[in-house]
Parts: sequence; structure tokens; C-alpha cells
Amino acid sequence: MSDPIYDLHCHSTASDGALPPAELVGRAKLQGVDVLALTDHDTVAGLAEARQAAQDCGMRLIQGIELSAGFESHCLHIVGLNIDPTNGQLLEGIGRQQITREDRAQKIAQKLVKKGIPDAYPELRAAAGNGEITRLHFADFLVKHGYVATQQDAFDRYLSKGKPGYVPTAWAPLAECVAWIRQAGGVAVLAHPLRYKLSTKWLDKALGQFKAAGGQGIEVVTGRASIDDIRLSYGFALKHQLYASQGSDFHAPGNQYLELGRLAAMPAGANPVWDLF
Ligand code: AMP
Ligand code: MN
Ligand code: MN
Ligand code: MN
Repeated sequence: MSDPIYDLHCHSTASDGALPPAELVGRAKLQGVDVLALTDHDTVAGLAEARQAAQDCGMRLIQGIELSAGFESHCLHIVGLNIDPTNGQLLEGIGRQQITREDRAQKIAQKLVKKGIPDAYPELRAAAGNGEITRLHFADFLVKHGYVATQQDAFDRYLSKGKPGYVPTAWAPLAECVAWIRQAGGVAVLAHPLRYKLSTKWLDKALGQFKAAGGQGIEVVTGRASIDDIRLSYGFALKHQLYASQGSDFHAPGNQYLELGRLAAMPAGANPVWDLF
């Protein structure tokens, strides 16, 4: 028997994914995934549906979340794996993150109004249903209404730091996010470590704090990682004695280079984070 296929990072309509949780699980099954973690931004709202769908098709679902965490002036993403989504401290913490998110969405929309782009908030609030609004929703809105050509353009021209639609946001501090995950019985993993554009010195500093707070893992293999990316990320895992995770960060069908379960091999000798489940 071949090794099971793990994908420990993806999104549903509970946040900025395109597929409802049950459809996401169905797609993962078709792609040959054996163990899937659903990790929506600052919410556990998709997990019950995903759990049921996984049970129905005989797949293992790891209950997860992706938290936005403050570190100095940066926002880092912390994936929590194998959490108890009913834990009171976690729920209280993410309740506050959700208020921050909603408030930020309104502020981003107000900034867009000043740039001559009306009506984003009501449209996105309606489209997101009970789900969390992220900047990806704004990017899709800007594409849909013809203000930009692509999601990347939307970030480059409006949504990234320093651009007219950017709103600095007071996310919970890194150590607090890690604590919520630990209190909920989960494993905290630093998501996509190379995407923050931090220097080695600052990433080391962040990982030092992360580890001191109880963080245990780092994503070594992500959806579009090159061999060099993997080698670099694995270097940080070794340096900080962190378990290695892998996940596609799948959001939506339609990108031929990014699919559930489609991941490069973990470096030989890595300690996989699933040893902790
Ligand atoms: P938020 O947590 O609201 O700041 O939104 C962040 C989300 O936007 C990420 O999880 C990605 O899904 C998406 N995102 C961030 N940067 C980019 C980018 N440059 N291009 C496309 N999507 C991005
Ligand atoms: Mn996202
Ligand atoms: Mn992320
Ligand atoms: Mn993600």
C-alpha cells in the first residue's frame, strides 16, 4: 500500500473558499486525498458539514483553522490542526477576530468608495452568507466589476500594504493565537513561511516567539512551492526543531497548478506533523 496522501490546509465557503465544505471534501476524495484538514480563516463554521461529508465518503478529516496573527507590524497565518472546535477559549478568541474582520471589511469598502468604487460591502456581505469576508472576496469583487483584470492586480493596486484599499488591522498577537490552538488541544503550525517576505533574521525572530508560545510545526510543502522553497522552509523547520506540515492552501477550482492533495514530496527524514495527531 502506498503512503496516505495528506492535505492539511484548504478553504471552504465558511471563509474565502469557493466550494461549500461537503463539496470540498468530495473533491478531495476524487483527488485521492486520504487525510484532509479544513482550515478556514478565523472560523470553525465549516467543520461540522465537512466532518459529516468525510464520514459519508470514508475520508479522515482533521478539524482545523487558519488564524490571522499579529507579529510586530506584520500579519502571520497560524494553522491550527486537530483542534476541538467546541473549546470555549478558542471560540471566544475567534469571536473577537470575526468582529475585527467584519469591521475591517467595512473600512476597506469605505476606502474603495473614496476611490470611486461603490457598494462592495453589501454585495460581499450577501455573497459571503454567514462566512468570513477576506481580502480575496474584495479581489474577486474588483475583478467581477471590471476595476482590475486579475486577483493579483487587485492586490497590487488596491489591497496590499501601502495601497489605497489597505486597512492596518489589530489581529490577536501571535502568542495568543498559538495559546487558543493549544487550549483547544490542537497543533499550531506557521503557514506558508516564505509568503510574508520577512528577512531570515525576522522570520527567525517570529519562529522563536512562535515556539516559545507553544507552536510546534511549520509548513514545508505548500501548493506551488518550488524545490528551493521546500529546501528553505525545511531549513527553518530544522533550525527551530519544528514538525513539518504540508497543505495546498486550495481556495477554488480552475487553477491547473493548484489542486487538493497535489503536493511535492516532503524532504526525506522530515518529522511529519501528523505524528502528533
Ligand atoms: P485577509 O486574511 O482578509 O487579509 O485575506 C488574505 C487572503 O487573501 C489570503 O488567505 C489569500 O486567500 C488571499 N491573498 C492574499 N494575498 C494574495 C495575492 N497576492 N494574490 C491572491 N490572493 C491573495
Ligand atoms: Mn485565503
Ligand atoms: Mn494564509
Ligand atoms: Mn490559507
